Amino acid sequence: MSFRDQVDRTLAALAVTPGWRRLQQCRPDCDDETVAEILRQAGGFAERVLAPLNTPGDRQGAQLIEGRVQTPAGFREAFRSYAEAGWLAVDLAEAGGGQGLPLTVQAACGPLFERACVALMMVAGSTRAAAHLIWEAGDEQLIREWVPKLATGERTATICISEADAGSDVGRIRTKAERVGDDWRISGRKTWISFGDHDLTERIGHCLLARTGSEPGTRGLSLFLVPNLIEGQPNGITVERLEDKMGLHASPTCALNFDQSRGTLIGSEGRGLAQLFRMIELMRLQTACQGLGLASASVDVAERYAKERRQGGQSSSPPVPIAEHPDVRRQLEEMRRRTEVLRLAVLELATAMDLAAYEPNDERRRELESFCAWMLPLIKNFGADAGFSVANAAIQVLGGAGYTRDWPLEQYLRDARVMTIYEGTTGMQALDFLTRRLWGDQGNGLRQLKARVQTDLSSAVDLHPQDAKVAQERLEAFDEFSRRMMSLQAEPERALYLAHDYFLAGWEAVSAWMDLRLRRIEDHLQR
Ligand SMILES: Cc1cc2nc3c(=O)[nH]c(=O)nc-3n(C[C@H](O)[C@H](O)[C@H](O)COP(=O)(O)OP(=O)(O)OC[C@H]3O[C@@H](n4cnc5c(N)ncnc54)[C@H](O)[C@@H]3O)c2cc1C
Repeated sequence: MSFRDQVDRTLAALAVTPGWRRLQQCRPDCDDETVAEILRQAGGFAERVLAPLNTPGDRQGAQLIEGRVQTPAGFREAFRSYAEAGWLAVDLAEAGGGQGLPLTVQAACGPLFERACVALMMVAGSTRAAAHLIWEAGDEQLIREWVPKLATGERTATICISEADAGSDVGRIRTKAERVGDDWRISGRKTWISFGDHDLTERIGHCLLARTGSEPGTRGLSLFLVPNLIEGQPNGITVERLEDKMGLHASPTCALNFDQSRGTLIGSEGRGLAQLFRMIELMRLQTACQGLGLASASVDVAERYAKERRQGGQSSSPPVPIAEHPDVRRQLEEMRRRTEVLRLAVLELATAMDLAAYEPNDERRRELESFCAWMLPLIKNFGADAGFSVANAAIQVLGGAGYTRDWPLEQYLRDARVMTIYEGTTGMQALDFLTRRLWGDQGNGLRQLKARVQTDLSSAVDLHPQDAKVAQERLEAFDEFSRRMMSLQAEPERALYLAHDYFLAGWEAVSAWMDLRLRRIEDHLQR
């Protein structure tokens, strides 16, 4: 019923994830005991330092005062403690100031922090992802100047893509970058930038896409690091507006104007979007961790409440806990299942992403990369969706109480709602899944999925024949759907209409597969 319980569930999920065992062979320093201790520390920190800020932060919200953003009370100190404890750069290379742990460890800790205070984690997520991006694509000077300071939280960073006429349609970005001598000058207006301004740190770097060439669409886009200050002086960036949102009140969402702001090119000209994908990929996985954190918190609240709240039963006897009613039990079990399936799926993806980085064999590495690219849209979208729908289901279990601010569920619901919108809407993820993952990659990711499911099926078929049958059927149905969608390439209008159904069928196949692992955890607990 707590962070401690979530730690235990995460450790149990790691134990049944085959990729984790393989990863431990590459990383003997990540033995079970060490990782359990890291997770316990993360849970303790989340509960002690971050969670107390969540409700007050929501009530107070971020504010725009005389052109500068103020975050709610306590956010600055909590961010500092988070960074000082090393949580900001768990999986960044040690040479860059990180702890050099696998991404899987980060993905295991992340949902604990997200559960505690998702709004503050918005800035932690973009800062960490920017550190990875600059580490991998920046030149030596940029790496030296920025990466260690991002890793220690001395500076923060944003992902700065969206504009009024360029939301899902990134190719319509109009912000321009012009070369002036060795320098670049950026002018334009960006919208929806999370932590685009704040008072947590003095310096903020914007990882910004701007148009450099005359080529239309995404080909003319390059990537820049645009600091808010240069040698202590403002760099022509003004906060024009703070969005008044449904949730995530403590996370400032800014419209920013850039007026001849100096920026440094990251990587190569014209390859901006492709390079930014490193950051986007990490932030999409983080979005799934956000959903998982909020789903975990919501189901815990509902389970606890249902044990205590008494209604119904024989009128001659005292009322019974509502958890005893079959319909409430059904709701609780569904919520728990959704949450734990997601936890397993996040770890399956994170371990595959880690193993892809360690794999020396080219062909094997390409297979892993295909699988990761195939899984990411599913995990991002259905992880985000679980955050909202489990919070919604939990409100139902609490009845009228769930609808009030006496309980945290209404905040979880409001905070979670945006997660299927930012980092690529559901519609765009479904489109990507069909056109790039199925059509573009010739179904390679799907082949990897089938091979992985077969491995789990072979060990589940005797122990859990019914679950194995469901997983097999879902996989076959999805395979058949995939064949149909392949044949619809000549009818794109029809195919795109069906893209969401196809996407959902993919997630159902993954869920039924992860159910088999959930059974293994339950078997283990019963022994
Ligand atoms: C709280 C919050 C924080 C954010 N933080 C950041 C940030 O830090 N940095 C940043 O750059 N951006 C940020 N964003 C912006 C976010 O990424 C965009 O809102 C998102 O990409 C969608 O763009 P849009 O809002 O313009 O919607 P639109 O692109 O107008 O889409 C509206 C609807 O149309 C659908 N649609 C659009 N095009 C297509 C198509 N071709 N095919 C099918 N369906 C389509 C979409 O799926 C969606 O349902 C944030 C947004 C919010 C709300």
